[in-house]
Amino acid sequence: MTRAPLSTDLSEYQVWFLTGSQGLYGEETLAQVALQSHRIAAALDAGTPVKVVWKPVLTDRDAIRRTILEANSDDSVIGLTAWMHTFSPAKMWISGLELLQKPLLHLHTQAEVELPWATIDMDFMNLNQAAHGDREFGYIQSRLGVHRTTVAGHVSDARVLEQVSTWQRAAAGRAALQSLRLARFGDNMRFVAVTEGDKTEAERRLGVQVNTWGVNELVEAVDAATDEQIDELVAEYVRLYDVDPELLPGAARHESLRYGAAIEVGLRSFLEEGGFGAFTTNFEDLGGLRQLPGLAVQRLMAEGYGFGAEGDWKTAVLVRLANVMGAGLPGGASLMEDYTYDLTPGQERILGAHMLEVSPSLTQGKARLEIHPLGIGDREDPVRLVFTADAGPGVVVALSDLGDRLRLTGNDVQLVDAPDLPRLPVGRAVWKPAPDFATSTACWLEAGAAHHTVMSTAVSLDAFRAFAGMVGIELAEITADTNAASFAKELRFNDASLRLSGR
Ligand code: MN
Repeated sequence: MTRAPLSTDLSEYQVWFLTGSQGLYGEETLAQVALQSHRIAAALDAGTPVKVVWKPVLTDRDAIRRTILEANSDDSVIGLTAWMHTFSPAKMWISGLELLQKPLLHLHTQAEVELPWATIDMDFMNLNQAAHGDREFGYIQSRLGVHRTTVAGHVSDARVLEQVSTWQRAAAGRAALQSLRLARFGDNMRFVAVTEGDKTEAERRLGVQVNTWGVNELVEAVDAATDEQIDELVAEYVRLYDVDPELLPGAARHESLRYGAAIEVGLRSFLEEGGFGAFTTNFEDLGGLRQLPGLAVQRLMAEGYGFGAEGDWKTAVLVRLANVMGAGLPGGASLMEDYTYDLTPGQERILGAHMLEVSPSLTQGKARLEIHPLGIGDREDPVRLVFTADAGPGVVVALSDLGDRLRLTGNDVQLVDAPDLPRLPVGRAVWKPAPDFATSTACWLEAGAAHHTVMSTAVSLDAFRAFAGMVGIELAEITADTNAASFAKELRFNDASLRLSGR
């Protein structure tokens, strides 16, 4: 499969639907199993974002092993969904499950919703025995230590489709990271600890390739931007944004906007030519760049690229992940930084922003395109999009390297309407974290979670939890149910269990 590095099109992926049975029941029953499982797979296919492909009913060990090997080797297959329609003696599954390298969803369901009580006979009972067939399958998965997501219920239930969809989105995110190439322009911000990390472990665990290019290679691409390319982008900016009059063609500062457009042309061509789906910059290392990239970075994030500021490649990975998992859903994903607090008792709020680089995918409103001085660094004033993220539910998620392993920390948040911020010339979001300000922030600090996050208003922690399980890393969750003391205990328990299991 050739897949564009930036694609967020979930329909390019597939999940195979496996049905477990055995030869004991005879041809006639197996034909019914095939027919009914085909129907379940079709309902899943119609009700979820990823294509669900039905595979012939599995009745013996060799067929199971071969099917799983084929799934492993097919890049378009992002996971398997398995259902034991009848009873499938689970020793048949050992050799296959031991080889499985793709995420697994165990769907615990039955062909029909209601039992035909008046006509049930033993033939019906033998055909519809997932109630114990799936327990046999659950046992072998637990015994072998196979990580999976289990969803129970009929496929006509919207909750079941929602849970399966979330799992598919996480599997698509995992698949996208497996082929992700991330370009770092320069190293991390000097002296900063949390943006560091083990890039080799990240490639082993997450699949992402993280490598560095000299920023002057980007400068060459920026300087190569033609007047026609720049004119075209400027016209697009004027169409899409409320552009500050002094930046408009013919106005005093139009040249700064043209240089901002040249950065976008250069960045885009560098990323496309290298097959990159994520990148980082560092304001301390801009080489021959005249502005810190702001506008261009904001627009590229909104298109689906991952981005991290100050060399923060771990957050760039998360932004790309959230862009893929949230594909097609309302809302967006962005680099975010917990910046400053309103500590008014009972209505504490967090104001998040960055120097420039917040994705306009967090608002449906029209952003303003402005130019202002940047207090940090020694460059020309950068152009940037200014807006406030829309109110509504969201999450912030951070990735820390604890030295011996990676930890994700996630927090449910409620974005709220911001007061007017006439003097704040950056994209920003204002939110209240769950369960409350004091508990959320104390837990965040206890977890050693980063000050850079991905903020997603498209996917919930459910998707990040499914993803974390698939790649075998911890997700410490701060939600409405979180209590600071139990959270601290949970971190200690996780620490012990992950060390014992060798993760
Ligand atoms: Mn920062």
